[in-house]
Amino acid sequence: MPTAPLCSAEEGPVTALHDVISPVTEEVVASVPSLSLEETDAAIARSRKAFETWRHVSPGDRARILRRFSALVDEHNEGLAQLEVRNAGHTIGNARWEAGNVRDVLAYYSGAPERLLGHQIPVPGGVDMTFHEPLGVVGVIVPWNFPMPIAGWGFAPALAAGNTVVLKPAELTPLTAMRLAELGLEAGLPEDVFQVLTGKGSVVGERFVTHPHVAKVVFTGSTEVGIHVAEGCARGVKPVTLELGGKSANVIFDDADLAKAAATAPYGVFDNAGQDCCARSRILVQRSVLDEFLALLEPAVLGVRVEDPSLDTSEMGPLISAGHHATVSSFITDSTNVVIQGQVPSGPGYWYPATVVMPSREDDPLMTEEVFGPVVSVMAFDDEADAIRLTNATDYGLSGSIWTRDVGRAFRVARATESGNLSINSHSSVRYWTPFGGFKKSGLGRELGPDALHAFTEVKNVFISTEG
Ligand code: NAD
Repeated sequence: MPTAPLCSAEEGPVTALHDVISPVTEEVVASVPSLSLEETDAAIARSRKAFETWRHVSPGDRARILRRFSALVDEHNEGLAQLEVRNAGHTIGNARWEAGNVRDVLAYYSGAPERLLGHQIPVPGGVDMTFHEPLGVVGVIVPWNFPMPIAGWGFAPALAAGNTVVLKPAELTPLTAMRLAELGLEAGLPEDVFQVLTGKGSVVGERFVTHPHVAKVVFTGSTEVGIHVAEGCARGVKPVTLELGGKSANVIFDDADLAKAAATAPYGVFDNAGQDCCARSRILVQRSVLDEFLALLEPAVLGVRVEDPSLDTSEMGPLISAGHHATVSSFITDSTNVVIQGQVPSGPGYWYPATVVMPSREDDPLMTEEVFGPVVSVMAFDDEADAIRLTNATDYGLSGSIWTRDVGRAFRVARATESGNLSINSHSSVRYWTPFGGFKKSGLGRELGPDALHAFTEVKNVFISTEG
């Protein structure tokens, strides 16, 4: 399949293509366009034009189209899920959930157009009211780890609020986003209201930041690129939402249900092969129960089924790419204290085993840096104050879990933790109807939930004089 720009002497340059590789088979599964700057600009111009129509579609009609879009995603759940298994190596169980999440997010925000209420504020000499106006063209930039849900968290509320969307999937995982755009058209979205623009971050993504007609950028990805995006948006005085990295803690107190905490801990970090911004990649255990916890953790880690992700029984697939495999591997050296390690299938695929390490120093990179693979660090703490100190000893603040039977302690620790999404005696982070986002270098702004819609509008205040 072609990988270099294609040129025809008679017709002039045509769109370059890039290959998409399966992380399971290491084979090319598709070849997709890699848009140039000019092609990106042309798409943004079409989006801007489509906004002039879409913003005036009545709230009821906009809602109806989004409900139809949600129903079509539901109808095509299995096809979308299989596509994600092929493209990203997600387990089929996860991929079905991910397509279902897009359906749910669309259905949730399809209730928004008719409920985008303003205020009527008492003022002397007239009537004062507020409107939530759409912004215009919204640029959504998506990473490779959850291609479907993260796309939906951006495009669904943006469209519901009356904006048009240009969405750039990651180079490694564009296929499900492209399919979702087709389903949007089939549902009745007018041409150019929702466009998926495949290509490089440095070309297409960067242009969302610098183009004056892109009114807002929604970025999910690494903290490093997120800071660059935010700097560019600041220059254009352009609103930006950032969902970035994490190094979340799973904190286990001595009064916890240790059996349940140990049995679930692997799934709190190794889900999606640890390529999860919410991964609880530090397990902090009260020193008095450390040995007991580790004894319970070992069979749980070794029991994680690492196998062909298309099997219904599969619990963990491979890493996304050869390059990412090299990055994850580089964290484990001859001097790393590996205390538990699972197995991986032989043959092709970027497999990495579920790995538990016990660093001796708090400043070890395995305690401070986002590995983004199936590697978890265990460290002991002495008491509640020490647990809070250690939990917060990171630049990140996205997620986390607290295991204790003491409800007062659970709330004290949750309130003291510098993190946006916490769960007590569980590892759940994401519900489409509750807010999601990070403290500190994990991000800026919130997605999902009842308030996310307002991040896709500007408030306008209008005063009408009633004086004769
Ligand atoms: P990345 O930052 O390398 O890329 C993310 C997206 O940005 C890609 O689409 C990429 O093409 C694009 N991009 C790259 N350079 C750009 C530029 N100069 N301008 C504009 N766009 C550009 O991240 P990744 O490796 O794809 O994803 C992994 C990271 O994403 C991890 O750090 C993870 O924690 C984070 N993440 C965060 C959340 C969250 O909600 N907080 C969710 C998922 C992933």
